[in-house]
Amino acid sequence: MKELIMIRYGELSTKGKNKRNFVSTLAKNIREALSEYPDIKINQQHDFMFMELNGAPQEEVLSGLEKVFGIQSFSPAIELARDFDLLKEAAIKLVKAEIAKNGVQSFKVATSRSDHNYSMDTNDVNQALGGFLAEEFPELKVQMKKPDLTIRVKVRENDFLVSSEWINGAGGLPVGTSANAVLMLSGGIDSPVAGYLAMKRGIRITAVHFASPPYTSPQALNKAKDLTEKLTKFGGWINFVEVPFTETQEAIKEHVNPAYLMTITRRMMMRISDELRKQYNGLAIINGESIGQVASQTLESMFAINEVTSTPVIRPVVSMDKLEIIDISQKIDTFDLSIQPFEDCCTVFAPPSPKTKPKLDDIAYYEAKLDIEGLVQRAVEGAMGEKIMPGSRSKEDSEAFSDLL
Ligand code: ATP
Ligand code: MG
Repeated sequence: MKELIMIRYGELSTKGKNKRNFVSTLAKNIREALSEYPDIKINQQHDFMFMELNGAPQEEVLSGLEKVFGIQSFSPAIELARDFDLLKEAAIKLVKAEIAKNGVQSFKVATSRSDHNYSMDTNDVNQALGGFLAEEFPELKVQMKKPDLTIRVKVRENDFLVSSEWINGAGGLPVGTSANAVLMLSGGIDSPVAGYLAMKRGIRITAVHFASPPYTSPQALNKAKDLTEKLTKFGGWINFVEVPFTETQEAIKEHVNPAYLMTITRRMMMRISDELRKQYNGLAIINGESIGQVASQTLESMFAINEVTSTPVIRPVVSMDKLEIIDISQKIDTFDLSIQPFEDCCTVFAPPSPKTKPKLDDIAYYEAKLDIEGLVQRAVEGAMGEKIMPGSRSKEDSEAFSDLL
């Protein structure tokens, strides 16, 4: 008997070569998201993937799998030789575990066959195994409609596969099956959620973070990296780019009327992000703007900020209420990090009353006082990229911690 996890794929309208790409990308992402357990083996097949744990802790692996985009559902399963006595033994084990874990009171057996030459058909297996289990567990009721527990048996050419749990996956597409894009990642609540939602559609993001030392602290930068690491759980490595933004912010502060400071700061961020997008082979810019949330996020503001580029700007949370965004950030475990109170480059230079309806003429007037090209070029040249892997930051933290001991 071998313990496995059976993984079912998400949206599979794709066929042929695309499907192969989808499946192998998913396998790679799963391996990476679970890189803490290097002994895991994945066997990709056409419609399923089978994972051998080889000693990796099942609970942790299951909770890791729940996050990886591109998985529709998965089930812990037992693979055994095609021997009915072994099947009974495996089913007993599963039922006992389910009674202990979930206190189930009713069950049924559901069989499917990929080998139609087997001597028993699906009904025969259902009845024989169901009857046997009903005798073994007299406290359980056999129930066809919505039983608490379904024992699933798959009759395959060389073996049986039995499973009980059916766990929903995260859905979406495997990260890396769509093109790349740049995510403007602050330390706030919204942009990590925007990144998560973009990743759900298979986009591999490059996280771009604007830092303005000494006005912003190393903690603020670390927070942005920690948020990036949280996002790697959904599809593997992410490039993180720290952009030096101090010179730009000081220049804006010196030359721009405070009412336009925010608009022009955002336009600079957008220009720099767009240059980095080219370097990182992206086709879009993603940010965490939501209409009406703050002064910079009126449609008038968005229009004025967006005017610097024709690159698609994707705003996954644009029409969500703050509470809806917070809900997601809690679900994806970024909320607690996001609310840590480290000053971000925009809060430090935030004007008392930014324009909610900036005018393009006024913007042009103030921008004429700035060396836009030079500022963009120097920020891009000074940008520092690093690849963030799942688990890498928590490891660094614990290493730093053990150094202290
Ligand atoms: P968030 O919660 O993501 O910080 P927010 O509601 O605070 O969003 P703003 O501060 O107006 O919104 O920023 C709007 C968007 O601009 C952010 O969602 C983010 O995509 C981008 N952004 C803001 N500050 C930075 C930064 N320091 N580095 C990178 N991107 C940023
Ligand atoms: Mg913010």
